[in-house]
Amino acid sequence: MEKVKCPICGTLIDDDSYTDCPYCGWGYTGVEDIYEEDEIEDWNLMSKKQAKELLKSGKNVWGKPLPKK
Ligand SMILES: [Zn+2]
Repeated sequence: MEKVKCPICGTLIDDDSYTDCPYCGWGYTGVEDIYEEDEIEDWNLMSKKQAKELLKSGKNVWGKPLPKK
């Protein structure tokens, strides 16, 4: 299967719609490009910007500490 970079943290994940990133928990939809940075996504219930801010503060999209890489 093809790999794509998680749009939030850059971890390589399977290029399969609705795959959760194992690192940051982002639900990859494959259509991230159509959303603005600060637009709330239906699938993730947050924007890419919010998810990236969580990532920066050491949390995944569920507000849990990030796993070790
Ligand atoms: Zn990720």
